[in-house]
Amino acid sequence: MTEFESERISTLPDATGSIGILGAGQLGRMLAASAAPLGLNAFTVDPKDAPSAARHAEHISAAFDAPEALRQLSERVDVVTYEFENIPVGALEQLLDVVDVFPGVRALEVSGDRGVEKEFFESLGVDVAPWRSVDSRRDLNAAADALGFPLILKTRQMGYDGKGQAWCDGPEDLDDAWDELGEWSLVAEGFVDFERELSIIGARTPDGQTAMFPLAENLHKDGILIESEAPAEASAETIERAHTICRKALDGLDYVGVLSIELFQDPDGTLRVNEMAPRVHNSGHWTIEGSETSQFEQHIRAVAGFSLGDTASVAPTQMLNTIGGFPDRRAVLEVPGAHLHDYQKEARPGRKIGHITVRAGDRDALNERVGRVRPLVEQTRDLG
Ligand code: AMP
Repeated sequence: MTEFESERISTLPDATGSIGILGAGQLGRMLAASAAPLGLNAFTVDPKDAPSAARHAEHISAAFDAPEALRQLSERVDVVTYEFENIPVGALEQLLDVVDVFPGVRALEVSGDRGVEKEFFESLGVDVAPWRSVDSRRDLNAAADALGFPLILKTRQMGYDGKGQAWCDGPEDLDDAWDELGEWSLVAEGFVDFERELSIIGARTPDGQTAMFPLAENLHKDGILIESEAPAEASAETIERAHTICRKALDGLDYVGVLSIELFQDPDGTLRVNEMAPRVHNSGHWTIEGSETSQFEQHIRAVAGFSLGDTASVAPTQMLNTIGGFPDRRAVLEVPGAHLHDYQKEARPGRKIGHITVRAGDRDALNERVGRVRPLVEQTRDLG
């Protein structure tokens, strides 16, 4: 970091500062809501007219790389961050001439391409799923020969929630997968017969201070996150391994802010990185009620140049996503320890429109409470 940059960021905590957020979905909304108690005003940019975050931030409705909108934003804020990884790098570069942007361009470049991301983790000595680059039908055959079946074909860019993916159970599926995705630049992954999915979320400040949240154990259905439980039951060795992976990535990217890494744990305990997100993450929503500091506050602290907050868990916590429909609020709120998060988004099949966090003093009590909330969530869930 240059001297100029460190001076610029260090002025923010004492001033009535403002923070810009590219993207105004639920993540931007929860970031903006966490900025306010720290005395920071939030401004969002997003092509949508009335996105979820607009109720908590001053909103500029424009394309992410619209020069006029970026100029307006940079005049109003002290620092800019982003809530999702598919922001055009050019947008960040325009902003960087005038204002700090965290986590920064490198994090976006690495996370924006599954192949580049895998190469990055391999360069750190971190395991990933076996994989091959696929840019032609011939490459796909070669990948199938090398990786076997099941094989998962994924777009390098713009994939999320299992979208942009085709599963091939045998050679007979390759043609269909190619017809569906062949126009994109792709990677093929070998199937990982994991025992469970975990995520590690960590943060880093401009001067290199880091802090890790407890591990979360995640349950997916049809490629979409359904539930997270934290702290995950895990050995000290597993926790240390996950922390090392996250710290290596944070340092390797000279990262500022919250970084989220999804992991597969093999039956022998090996952790492999599935993917990373240069932002707060759905599997960290539990931290709002379940940790001393939420992931959203932590991100704001890091990018605004404050100290990082305590990441200790305050109680066993479970997060349940509400997808495609929202359960009966009264019934949910009758359950002690249940907390509603309605993103105030229009319900559509497969769309995450809220989540519910349940907290309790011990795991038995948590299971009992979740046992009452889960059926309410499942009745209204529509994965599309
Ligand atoms: P992704 O969008 O890459 O995170 O994939 C969504 C979900 O699909 C993951 O959370 C896993 O449950 C599953 N999945 C993705 N890739 C693999 C793989 N190589 N082996 C086994 N399961 C996978």
